[in-house]
Amino acid sequence: MAPVISVRRRAMLAWLAACLPAHAGASPPATGTRPARIVIDPGHTPAQGGALGVRGIYEVRYNDGLASLLLRALTQAGFDVALTRGPGDNVSLEERARFANVRQADLFLSIHHDSAQLQYLEKVAVGDHDAYRTTRPISGYSIFVSQRNAHYAQSLAAAQMLGVEMRKLGRPPALHHAEPIEGESRELLAPDIGIYRFDDLVVLRQAAMPALLLEAGVIVDPADERYVSDQGNQARIVHAIVTAVRQYVATARIGHAQK
Ligand SMILES: [Zn+2]
Repeated sequence: MAPVISVRRRAMLAWLAACLPAHAGASPPATGTRPARIVIDPGHTPAQGGALGVRGIYEVRYNDGLASLLLRALTQAGFDVALTRGPGDNVSLEERARFANVRQADLFLSIHHDSAQLQYLEKVAVGDHDAYRTTRPISGYSIFVSQRNAHYAQSLAAAQMLGVEMRKLGRPPALHHAEPIEGESRELLAPDIGIYRFDDLVVLRQAAMPALLLEAGVIVDPADERYVSDQGNQARIVHAIVTAVRQYVATARIGHAQK
């Protein structure tokens, strides 16, 4: 699940936003002479692991695994790629966006794995560990963009390219974030390819470049957890992301891939 800004922190975040480098909000650099810079943001931290999945494993482990595969694939594709944190690092949401801003990244990709609303979950035991499992099938990917990102149109364009590539894998998007449930009711911008608007996601809002957040799958759902844990499917998801990034970079004419 993706963390949301709390009302209490708005004042502090506004102050932090004011401290961002001067280029924040400027257009992505379009030199055409260097590889496009992609920042991958593995969601959550070892200390705050995000959603607890059906196998009793926290979301952060899934995020780190997919981010590591993506780092390798995007690097091999010729992009200049960096992670906002390593698997052992505890990094705040603001620091993630700031990392990408200082680096003057061309695209910010936050990687998450999804849960479901409490009313659709039951607590189960896996050995000595707690776990959560869906009480009805909830599966698929979701992509979030923020209209408060300085480059909303480009964020949405990149999200559409990713949504199309993810949909090609044959798994429909998850639509549960649009349900009229407190804390959800997210606006579906493209139901067929799983794109939602979520303005207050901190990393998307504070990133000074086009930014999107992918929920790769629903780890509280037994079938979908198996899907995202399968190495073949992980490779297919990574390929979908790389294809979308290539297409976005080519369309936006940002830098170039070396290969
Ligand atoms: Zn998350």
